[in-house]
Amino acid sequence: MAKYVMALDAGTTSNRCILFNEKGEICSMAQKEFTQYYPQPGWVEHDASEIWQTQLSVARQAMQKVGATYKDIAAIGITNQRETVIVWDRKTGQPVYHAIVWQCRRTADMKDELLAKYPDIADSAYHKTGLVFDPYFSGTKLRWILNNVEGLRERAEAGELCFGTVDSWLIFKLTKGKVHATDFSNASRTLLFNINTLEWDDELCERLEVPKCMLPDARPSSGDFGESDPEFFGGPIKITGVAGDQQAALFGQTCFTPGEAKNTYGTGCFLLMNIGDKPMYPNNGLLTTIAWGLDGKVEYALEGSVFVAGAAIQWLRDEVKLVDQSPDSEYFATRVKDTNGCYVVPAFTGLGAPYWDPYARGAIVGLTRGVNKYHIIRATLESLAFQSGDVLKAMEEGSGVTLSALKVDGGACKNNFLMQFQSDLIDREVDRPACVETTAMGASYLAGLAVGFWASKEDVIKNWTLDKVFKPEMDEETRAKELKYWKQAVNATLGWAK
Ligand code: ADP
Repeated sequence: MAKYVMALDAGTTSNRCILFNEKGEICSMAQKEFTQYYPQPGWVEHDASEIWQTQLSVARQAMQKVGATYKDIAAIGITNQRETVIVWDRKTGQPVYHAIVWQCRRTADMKDELLAKYPDIADSAYHKTGLVFDPYFSGTKLRWILNNVEGLRERAEAGELCFGTVDSWLIFKLTKGKVHATDFSNASRTLLFNINTLEWDDELCERLEVPKCMLPDARPSSGDFGESDPEFFGGPIKITGVAGDQQAALFGQTCFTPGEAKNTYGTGCFLLMNIGDKPMYPNNGLLTTIAWGLDGKVEYALEGSVFVAGAAIQWLRDEVKLVDQSPDSEYFATRVKDTNGCYVVPAFTGLGAPYWDPYARGAIVGLTRGVNKYHIIRATLESLAFQSGDVLKAMEEGSGVTLSALKVDGGACKNNFLMQFQSDLIDREVDRPACVETTAMGASYLAGLAVGFWASKEDVIKNWTLDKVFKPEMDEETRAKELKYWKQAVNATLGWAK
C-alpha cells in the first residue's frame, strides 16, 4: 500500500517536492532555487532544462530523505507558476528558447498592436477566456517567440514543436515525450483557451498566430496524465493531478463550494473565490478562471490580485528601515492603539483590481504632528487588508455570491495583527489553517483523489485543520469610518504619474 502522494511544486524562483501522507501531513520536503535571467529591463526568463533538472533532483531527494521507493508513491501531482511559456522540439525534447516568465513585459507593444488591428479582441477574449487582454498571459509571449526566433514559425507549422506551460513541460519530460498535455486550470491562463467550451479557440489562435498543432491536450485537473518513465524513480509513478499554483491553493484550502475564498499574502496577494460550475463575467476588472476539472465537472473562480502586499513590508524593512525583519512589524503595530489617522497606500507600481490605474503612485496621508514610526508601520500592515478587502468587495458585487469565510495562507498570514484587522474590515471570519503549504497540498489532493488515495472531497476536508480563527470585533461605525478614509487615501494616489 502506497504511503505518500508526491507534489511537485514548480514555483517562480524555486522548485520543491513535498511528500504528503494520508492525513495530509508533510513527511518529506526538498527545495532548490534556479537561475533568473533578466536579459533586458522588464524581461524575465528561465532555462527550461534547469527547471526540469531541479524539479527531478528535488523529487529524488524528497524520496531519499524518507527512504521511499516508487512503490511508496501513490501518484504525482504537479502545481506550477502559471502563464510561463516554454517551446520545445517534439522529437528531441530540447527547449528551443528560454522560458518566457509570466512577469516578463516584453510584449506590451505587441498588445497595443493587436488591439489596433482587432478592436474587438479585448472584449471577445474576455468572454471566451475570462482574462484581461494583457501581456501577462501566455498568448502574446508565445507569438513573440514564434515571430522573433529564426526558423521557429516554420518548424511550429510543420508540427515539429510543442508549446506548454511549466506543467506540460514537466509532464512531457517525466513521460519521456509520451504525453503532451495540460490541465484546464493552466489552459485557462493562456489567452487561447475557451473556458466555456473547454477547447482551444480557433479565432484567438489565428489572431495570435499560434498553430494549433503545437498546443497540448487540455484535460481535467484530476485524472490521467500518463506515468513517469521508470528511469527517474526506479519504476513508474502515475501522474494524476495538475493545477496552476493559485487554483491548487484554492483546492488545498478546500474551497469547494461557491462563496468560499482564499487569500495568499505573499509579495503580492492573490484572492480566488469559488463561483461554482458556471463562469460569470462581471466586467469589473476581476479575472474569471477555471478552478479545476474534477469528477466530470468544471468549477470556476473569480480572481483578483494586489500587486504590492508583503512587498510593502519589505519596503519598510529595506528602504525606510523602520523594521529589521518583516515579522517585527506585528510587535511595532501593536505598540499603538490605532494609526493616529495615518494611511499608507503602497501603489508603488500602480493599482490593480478594482482600480486598475497604472498611474497611481504610493502615498502616506493623514499626517499630523503626533504620527510616529509605529503608526506608519501599523498603517502599512493595514494597507494589505484594505487592498484585499477592496478586491473581495468587487468579487461579491460582481458575482452576487456572498463570502462565507476567508481562508488565508502565504508568508504574511502569520501576522496575527494583520489577520485580526482583515477580519474586522471585511466583517467575516478569517481562518488560518495549520498547514499553510496549500499549493502543494492542492496538487497532491487532485492527484490522490484520482487514484483513490483519498476517497472523496469529504476526506480531504477532514484533513484541513484550523490553526486560528479571527472573528470580527470592530463596530460598524468604526469600520465605515476606516473605509471612508481609506477611499480618500486611494483617491489621493490615482492618476499621480500621468
Ligand atoms: P512569495 O511566495 O511571494 O515570495 P511568501 O509567501 O514567502 O512570499 O511571503 C513573504 C512576504 O511576506 C514578504 O513580502 C514578507 O515581507 C512578508 N511577511 C512575511 N512574514 C511576515 C509577517 N510576520 N508580517 C508581515 N509580513 C510578513
